[in-house]
Amino acid sequence: MPSAPPIAQIALDIPVPRLFDYLATGLTSADIGQRVRVPFGRKQLVGVMMGLCNDSAHAPHKLKPVLEVYRDTPALPAELLRLLTFCSGYYHYPLGATVMAALPTRLRSTQAVQVKLASAWQLTATGLTLDAADLPAHARAQRALFDRMRDGQPHAGTTLAATSGSYRSILKTWVSRGWAVQIDQPASLHTHRAMAADTPPRLTAAQHSALTQIGAAFAHYRAFLLHGITGSGKTEVYLHLVATALARGGQTLLLVPEINLTPQLTGLFRARFPHIEIATLHSGMAEGERLAHWLAAAEGRARIVLGTRLAVFAPLPQLALLIVDEEHDSSFHQQDGLRYAARDVAVVRAQQRGVPVVLGSATPALETWHNAQSGRYTLISLAERAIAGARLPAIRLLDTRSSKPDAGLSATLLSAIGSRLTQAQQSLVFVNRRGYAPALMCFECGWSAACQRCSAKLVLHLRERQLRCHHCGHVERVVHACPACGNLDLKPGGFGTQRIEDTLTQHFPHARILRVDRDSTRRRDSWADMQRAIRNGEADILVGTQLLAKGHDFPKLTLVGVINADSALFSPDFRATERLFAQLMQVGGRAGRAAEAGEVMIQTQFPEHHLYRLLQRHDYAEFAASLLAERAAAGFPPFVHQAVLRAEAGKLETALDFLRQAQAAAPALAAITLFDPTPAAMARKAGVERALLLAQSPTRKALQLFLTDWMVRLYALKASNVRWNLDVDPLEI
Ligand code: ADP
Ligand code: ZN
Ligand code: ZN
Repeated sequence: MPSAPPIAQIALDIPVPRLFDYLATGLTSADIGQRVRVPFGRKQLVGVMMGLCNDSAHAPHKLKPVLEVYRDTPALPAELLRLLTFCSGYYHYPLGATVMAALPTRLRSTQAVQVKLASAWQLTATGLTLDAADLPAHARAQRALFDRMRDGQPHAGTTLAATSGSYRSILKTWVSRGWAVQIDQPASLHTHRAMAADTPPRLTAAQHSALTQIGAAFAHYRAFLLHGITGSGKTEVYLHLVATALARGGQTLLLVPEINLTPQLTGLFRARFPHIEIATLHSGMAEGERLAHWLAAAEGRARIVLGTRLAVFAPLPQLALLIVDEEHDSSFHQQDGLRYAARDVAVVRAQQRGVPVVLGSATPALETWHNAQSGRYTLISLAERAIAGARLPAIRLLDTRSSKPDAGLSATLLSAIGSRLTQAQQSLVFVNRRGYAPALMCFECGWSAACQRCSAKLVLHLRERQLRCHHCGHVERVVHACPACGNLDLKPGGFGTQRIEDTLTQHFPHARILRVDRDSTRRRDSWADMQRAIRNGEADILVGTQLLAKGHDFPKLTLVGVINADSALFSPDFRATERLFAQLMQVGGRAGRAAEAGEVMIQTQFPEHHLYRLLQRHDYAEFAASLLAERAAAGFPPFVHQAVLRAEAGKLETALDFLRQAQAAAPALAAITLFDPTPAAMARKAGVERALLLAQSPTRKALQLFLTDWMVRLYALKASNVRWNLDVDPLEI
């Protein structure tokens, strides 16, 4: 009797928590992990083959066959399928959708895969010997282009286009003169056989000891927390670890929080390892380019993969080391679809794979610090700055009760900025809000402009004469009379970056002031251009949001002023102070990184607050200990584990109703606390009403058992007019 044909279990991007069965005629277990094309209803879909089995709940004659196996792209390795299966289980998100989310968009469609690469250009050795004087005197576009390319690296056309609209014709001339060459490879994948690797600095004793400890753990799982103050040389430790991994023939995955940080880091790695293919993966890449890098990782050609959170799911057949830089950063959390924390997934991946993982930060997440204290992670500290003589900045607290700021800035801060100007040093004023002012208010009756679609105030953008909602994008014209009482004297409330920029312009009319926030960096590459300008000393005073705080090294910057920090001290979000401390440490770390000592001035009404006191002493450990004690006493994470069921609907009652059903359907388990449904902190967003239901437990295991059972019941509930999702280990509630 002929044996029944095997059945292929296929992951499809369909929001139901199961795989789909198809006839696997002609397929073998070697095809597991391959992309396949299957019929689905009246359509055809791309899926991934997860397994083969011999029986199905459906009768064989009802099953449809797999139409095609795409053997031209590498199969997802078993290791990755295991990781994705884990994530689907842990985050309670459908397996098919989880697997498909890990693929680059191009691989999710039935269209043929074409790795079409954008061209790149690079100056030749001759080109590099030129200097600006060799270019025509008034050719600004040529000079800008030259400036951009003089690092000798390949630059993608898309990047160069931002420098000059006429880049193609200029480059054509340069190519004909032998100054530049065109390369048909994505810039960062290109290797530089002729280039000499830069020489690493002599390691400090602390760096050396970190390397020895982590180096001893290669080839088995161990999680390290590399706690190093800003400027302690964590990156140098990463570079050495990567060298070790390379020497052992392994691939390294390095995750960074920001797209903006990848070019900078890629440059460093490229200079150190010019002969190695380096892939970068982040959401800002063009689809074709991203696919090319993904394939380089999947085929094992790229030995170093740098990327943002989504890169944690890159296929890496020879993965030997994982590094998560700035591991505390909230951008490692994906906030929709598969809601995962890339740092936690990286640790699981290291564990499954049996390789070391290094989490680096100056201000670790409290969860991570707790793991290091309890011994689950090995703590390694870099307590001093790496450059001899470089000191941490002195932090001064400016009491705004005794000395009132004038239009946002206190006299002490203004005079400090003034003295930096005379010494040709840079200052940075850190403001956590973009726009002119966070509110437009009537001081007669208390009215303030609010978004109709969100429970939020509208932000005043004076230059554009607009009121904007930063949550839903709603824009309206500035009103001139109070709609409630008719008062014609409406006033801005609070300070945003534009308003501080105005204050600075009034005080320092001759200074070159550069505002850096999401509004001023919207254009592609403008932030990269600004960074270059700052480094070249083309700006005297920087005003900006947290964009400026992260990871950048500006050698002339010696003063950081912080305004508006206090509000986080009284936030209902229990993580607000943890974030504030990290943010202030980070932005303060921008001051005085090289030979010059830096100074940080924080305007506050609460100079005695212990957060500020510990910040002044740069004492993260003490601060973390006090937060952990508070959290333990109050029963907050990391001492409990949480999951939030969120519901959204046109009416708040509908969302709450669904959650009440969910609450009633919950299995009774002793170790679980299930709270009552409540409206979300921001109850309305973009016209949608939002509510939530919090579940927590002292143990992760109990919570997971509960969630698994609960999810089955949730899928069975009637959920008309409601969208719901589950957020495990939520960052915000
Ligand atoms: P972190 O990432 O910990 O903030 P970085 O890795 O950016 O610190 O290092 C800060 C600065 O110190 C950089 O300019 C780096 O080149 C320099 N540096 C790192 N290690 C050494 C070393 N061993 N000797 C001299 N300079 C070093
Ligand atoms: Zn009014
Ligand atoms: Zn809005």
